[in-house]
Amino acid sequence: MRHIGHWIDGAEVRGTSGKHGPVYDPAAGHVQAEVDFASVDEVDAVVASCTRAAVGWSQASLSRRAEILFKFRELLDARKADLARLLTSEHGKVFSDAMGEISRGIENVEFACGIPHLLKGEHSEQAATGVDVYSLRQPLGVVAAITPFNFPAMVPIWMLANGVACGNAVVLKPSEKDPSPSLFLAALLKEAGLPDGVLNVVNGDKLVVDRLIEHPGVAALSFVGSTPIARYIYENGTRRGKRVQALGGAKNHMVVLPDADVGMAADAAVSAAYGSAGERCMAVAMVVAVGDVAEPLVRAIEARLDRIKVGPGTDPENEMGPLITREHRDRVASYLDIAKEEGATVVRDGREQKFANDGFFLGVSLIDKVKPNSRVHCEEIFGPVLSVLRVGTYDEALAIVNSHEYGNGTAIFTRDGGAARRFQREVDVGMVGINVPIPVPVSYYSFGGWRASLFGDHHMYGPEGIRFFTRTKVVTSRWPDPATSVIDLGFPRNR
Ligand code: NAD
Repeated sequence: MRHIGHWIDGAEVRGTSGKHGPVYDPAAGHVQAEVDFASVDEVDAVVASCTRAAVGWSQASLSRRAEILFKFRELLDARKADLARLLTSEHGKVFSDAMGEISRGIENVEFACGIPHLLKGEHSEQAATGVDVYSLRQPLGVVAAITPFNFPAMVPIWMLANGVACGNAVVLKPSEKDPSPSLFLAALLKEAGLPDGVLNVVNGDKLVVDRLIEHPGVAALSFVGSTPIARYIYENGTRRGKRVQALGGAKNHMVVLPDADVGMAADAAVSAAYGSAGERCMAVAMVVAVGDVAEPLVRAIEARLDRIKVGPGTDPENEMGPLITREHRDRVASYLDIAKEEGATVVRDGREQKFANDGFFLGVSLIDKVKPNSRVHCEEIFGPVLSVLRVGTYDEALAIVNSHEYGNGTAIFTRDGGAARRFQREVDVGMVGINVPIPVPVSYYSFGGWRASLFGDHHMYGPEGIRFFTRTKVVTSRWPDPATSVIDLGFPRNR
């Protein structure tokens, strides 16, 4: 059985706690490796290693940091296919999707390569006579990055690229379900020249996270995952005086107005709902169909379902892979029964599709005529289940989006620029797409939702990422004009 350890001080090491967890091959349905779970003592040793490394790294010149990040970007690009195969193997997403995930991660490294520019402070000359005021951006020290299973390369890169670029040492705690990509990234960063201990990877479960929350040597927690855990980390981290950004779950609505191009909207809904088996925090989970568009739109979506090939992610013919675990697959599937109990119409039940092996597969599923207060609408399903809610007017659609617990992403499909502009102003959601179903911001903007989709003041990556991973210092300095000095410095006297 393959064994996955921790990455400490520049090398992979075996855990000593004796505790470990299974890493599945979701396409085959069996355990392919065991990952070590760290003890409290091991977490403390990892934080101590980061603390030692942070001292020197905070002094590394900006040009050296940029040089390492440039090299990391080149290595990531060169080894993209190897990393993508690892993602497909442990997460299950199809190879092309895994390659896309890494490309989005690389964008964040490219952003971080601009660190000399990004850390420039402000300067006010002559705030008073002989007095200048300016600001510095300095690292926090040791920061923890805690990541979810669904983007096992991109989300760690969101955090570590900016975290390291800003001069911090990072403890990365990846999802125990697919931990290998994080070790791969750590090895590439070492090859790129990152000093040992500036990035350590510690594997484990709640015990590790709880120790990182408590540890006095950890200055900040950057988290992405489900809403209950995001809230828990935010509340417990801030109580201990730590800086916390905690991104939570989602239930994204795609509003389709009656004037929309039905074919375009159906294509967008299908790719955004079923890509990565719906295990994306920016997946479209709900179509809100306004007025007469509902019937042709549902039929157009239904007509596209048979074309989606579901199977192991290693086969380039397949467009959708398995879910992460058997338990998660069964939980997602249970919503098809809940939908029937709630009076909605199950247009396509993915359980009817049979698969050759014991992988954690579920066929694509479509539910129509979902009610606003139903569980199918209110709860995050996080699988290949697209639901349709029919409403009469734009105002009803807006109220549905704005009253939902989550406010991560949303999209509107219309040919009317005025309607789209009104929607972007009125909708209470962090990321908005106009005829774009998955509006993930490019790396030089920041990523984050509203309401239960984000706890904390900072969105992820981009300019807000730089703010999160640094603290500012303002210097007020007085240097009298040498011409007025009592000591003769050789300047002409100002009399
Ligand atoms: P999760 O919350 O179960 O796990 C995330 C991390 O928290 C993992 O590292 C895990 O080990 C740790 N964790 C789990 N339970 C814990 C506990 N009780 N105490 C302390 N730590 C714990 O999330 P997941 O299932 O890995 O990921 C899917 C979820 O993440 C979905 O809800 C999805 O919407 C969300 N997500 C959100 C975004 C975003 O940007 N908002 C992005 C990706 C995923």
